[in-house]
Amino acid sequence: MSETMLHHKINSLSTIDDESWYKATWAHRAWFAAGCATVLISLAKSMLIIAAGEPADAWTWLQLTLAAVLGYHLADLGSGIYHWAVDNYGSAETPVFGSQIESFRAHHQHPSAITKCDTAGILYTLAGVVTVAVLPINVVSSDPIFLGFVGVFAGCGMFSLKFHAWAHTPRRKLPPVVAALQDAGIILRLSHHNAHHRPPYNSNYCTVSGIWNRVLDEWKVLVAMEVALFRVIGVRPRSWAEPNSEWTPRNQD
Ligand SMILES: [Zn+2]
Ligand SMILES: [Zn+2]
Repeated sequence: MSETMLHHKINSLSTIDDESWYKATWAHRAWFAAGCATVLISLAKSMLIIAAGEPADAWTWLQLTLAAVLGYHLADLGSGIYHWAVDNYGSAETPVFGSQIESFRAHHQHPSAITKCDTAGILYTLAGVVTVAVLPINVVSSDPIFLGFVGVFAGCGMFSLKFHAWAHTPRRKLPPVVAALQDAGIILRLSHHNAHHRPPYNSNYCTVSGIWNRVLDEWKVLVAMEVALFRVIGVRPRSWAEPNSEWTPRNQD
């Protein structure tokens, strides 16, 4: 496909005037269910192994808590790197992640549209990755601490896109527990995420809690990765393009 045709295809899709854009298919729901089941198996196996052994001591619970905290933080960091990658590289035709790249591009032009999408339609790609990557770990591993870490990391990573959608959702439409988690800074808030949708459109990529944005942005970690990638493989990230109308919100959004 020529570049002109590809741009036309992307532009026509990113108008988001088609009802089907918001709806999850049965395949999306199947991958989402598989991803949720995979995460639950990790967590359940971790708990069952602990319950089946000697009564767990304080050291075991401390290790499990630290593993969960580590999984939560690494998921935030991973969500930032993932979001940065799909925002800046690849195209609608990239294998596996093409639909994500296209969706993120449309999200920058219509930020509130993500709130109208079915959850399975948002999460199915990451749910598929979680299923394929974590199910074998669930089968092989019998380490309850490691399984606890994997379950929290995979669960938070998979739901990072839902946390992102909730950040864009009007507060009156949020479940009270979600609003409380946002207020506590445990999951992403719009006041924190808003900077991603403002010039220069190259910061605040993390979407679990957003805690790692400060490190990635102030230390210019992602900028350094962009420069390194450009030097090694000669590919420019989309955030270097100026003026960058692709990232600018349209209309009422
Ligand atoms: Zn983005
Ligand atoms: Zn956003």
